[in-house]
Formats: sequence, C-alpha cells, structure tokens
Amino acid sequence: MATINSPAVKTFVVEHLDPELEDWSSLEYGAIASECHDAGAKFLLSSVPTSLKLPQNLQGARGLTVETRGIEEIYADRKDKVCLLDPAASKDLSPEDGNTFEIFLFGGILGDDPPRDRTSELRKKGYQGRRLGPVQMTTDTAVRVTRMVVHEKVPLGQVPYIDHPEIKVSENESTEMPFRYVIGKDGQPIMPPGMVDLIKKDSEKGLGDLL
Ligand code: SAH
Repeated sequence: MATINSPAVKTFVVEHLDPELEDWSSLEYGAIASECHDAGAKFLLSSVPTSLKLPQNLQGARGLTVETRGIEEIYADRKDKVCLLDPAASKDLSPEDGNTFEIFLFGGILGDDPPRDRTSELRKKGYQGRRLGPVQMTTDTAVRVTRMVVHEKVPLGQVPYIDHPEIKVSENESTEMPFRYVIGKDGQPIMPPGMVDLIKKDSEKGLGDLL
C-alpha cells in the first residue's frame, strides 16, 4: 500500500497566550477561521481559558474549533508532527515541510514592537521550529503565509509582501504598522475584515490620550 507522506488536511493551531482576547485578536482569529475553512484546513484555537467569553464574531464561526487544553496535551503522541512557526528559528519554512509536518503552531500573541519574543513560551516545549523570514508578521499573516507555502507549495521567497505599510487613519494622518503583510490581488496589504476601522478607532483613542 502506498504511504501517504503528505496528508492533505493540515491543522493550524494558534495557542492563545494572552489572558484576555482583545478586539484585535478576535478579528485575526475570525479571519484565520474563515480562510482555513475555505482552504479545507482545520483551525484550532487552543489554551483558551474556561473563564473567557468568546467574542460575538467567533461564537459558532465556521472552521473554528476552540480547546481549553494546551498544545502539549492535545498532541502528546504526535510531537514530531508539530512545527512551531518561530521568528527565531534558524531554518525558513519550505514547501517540503508540508510533507514532514501535519500541525503548524503559532503564538496567539498581540504583536509588539519591539518584539518581546513571547514565542519562546512555545519554543521551550521543544517543538521543531521554522521561520517565515526575518520580519515580524501578525498571527493571521503568519498562518496565511504558512498555508501558501505548505498547501499551495509557493516557496517563501515568492510570497508577495509589504513591510511596515502606512494606513491612512484620517484626512491628514497615517499610522505605520510595524509588521510584514501579504499583498492581495488589489495591491493592498491583506488584513482581517474590520481591521482598518479598528486601527482608525484606536488611533483616535491614542490621540485623545495625548490631548
Ligand atoms: N511579538 C511576538 C510575535 C508575535 S507574532 C514575539 O515576541 O514573539 C505572533 C506569532 O506569529 C508568533 O508567535 C509566530 O508563531 C508567528 N510569526 C510571526 N512572525 C513570524 C516570522 N517572521 N517567522 C515565524 N513565525 C512568525
């Protein structure tokens, strides 16, 4: 019987590492869920505290499975099939990694600038790591790029991206996002639906704090 080295269905796991679930994360997780659903992949949001009430957009979201258990418990018997996407890994992700790994693990962490290396919380559990290039991505971007590389077999170097795009938040102001994003068909950085509005709202708040 032929061995299947490339099981079609991959599981993308985001281990939620923050005590709260901010608006920003819920938009990211919502986008990951619907894109994974469309691509026929599974999305598991793990380590979600039992006390945490899921925001509206994630309740019953298609393609999303929520787990209160953590990655170590869920995949205790398949540790060698898990690949941690790690900005500090020495090797970049390649399409061949899709033949080796079945589970791709990401840190559910709000991006911070400069990065505080909170991915280390997952690294110390001993998973094999792969990098997605040298620039920090948002979690949904990291999942999107991983899917393109391991599902669609696009080499990392051929993924079209933009670093630190400027988002126009008002007539005269823009704000620079300190991350790398994939460029969509429209030439714009791909962000979860509703994200630009949230960035605008947050920047108004920030300005309010200054006045
Ligand atoms: N500021 C955080 C990173 C947040 S990004 C830190 O200090 O670690 C959220 C997640 O996306 C990371 O945990 C990682 O799994 C993934 N990720 C983001 N950029 C990446 C990159 N360049 N290479 C590999 N994984 C990346």
